Amino acid sequence: MIPTPFAAGPVVGYLFVALAGAAIGSFLGMLVYRLPIILKRQWERDCREALALPAAGPAETFNIAWPASHCPQCRAPLKIRDNIPLLGFLLLRGRCRHCAAPIPRQYFLIEALTTLGALASVAHFGATPRGALAFVLTAALIALTFIDMREQILPDTITLPFLWLGLLANRNGLFASLDAAVLGAAGAYLFLWLVFHAFRLATGKEGMGYGDFKLFALGGAWLGWQLLPLVLLFASLAGALYGGALILAGRRTRATPMPFGPFLCAAIWLALFYGWPLMALYLRGVHG
Ligand SMILES: [Zn+2]
Repeated sequence: MIPTPFAAGPVVGYLFVALAGAAIGSFLGMLVYRLPIILKRQWERDCREALALPAAGPAETFNIAWPASHCPQCRAPLKIRDNIPLLGFLLLRGRCRHCAAPIPRQYFLIEALTTLGALASVAHFGATPRGALAFVLTAALIALTFIDMREQILPDTITLPFLWLGLLANRNGLFASLDAAVLGAAGAYLFLWLVFHAFRLATGKEGMGYGDFKLFALGGAWLGWQLLPLVLLFASLAGALYGGALILAGRRTRATPMPFGPFLCAAIWLALFYGWPLMALYLRGVHG
């Protein structure tokens, strides 16, 4: 048995989990903002190279660690206490200390969701390898959700490593048998790929992106193939309800593209935590 902070009692244990969740949430908020910029610069460099165009000139260094956190408006660096997850935002009342520009609420939201995700993972799966891995997946799904909402991309740099991680976790059957996980990963990708091309042939429109196939495959790797119909059902229903509500509210037309990734992420998360109880409920409903 690995010693955990829970050896000192549940209060200490959950406090530790909440702090760790908030700190990782703070990292995710930065990742959601920076990763798409890093990727777009990389794609631009690759395109210029492929087209034999001159390089765009030396760009300022920009990566996950550099430059240090600063206000996007006045570029004043953040003080250490402004950088404290959750509290920093509340103490500043959501505004920059120097220029009073509003700090995007997204940072606070990501930190709060990640903290709750950490607490939920440990409460549901225990302070165990399952609990830790459930939280790792939760964190990845939160990052993918916000990146897809902001940029309509699901970066391979997140989807593919976490797909492999799901298969590795299930070598010992942590969430599904290895057999179900391998079939789930390959089957999920193939299924959405077929739907995508059938839809494209029938309507001439593209309803999804390849990132969605990889995200669904990630779901299959973690959950096993048996829970994939539930994931698809839940994601489609949630997406249709949300899209319909936006159309009714006059905030979008039928033609406006809407990312599917956030709904897939939410459905995968729900299935990891409650997939089998939901399946049992459904089967009992069907068979009386
Ligand atoms: Zn500022």
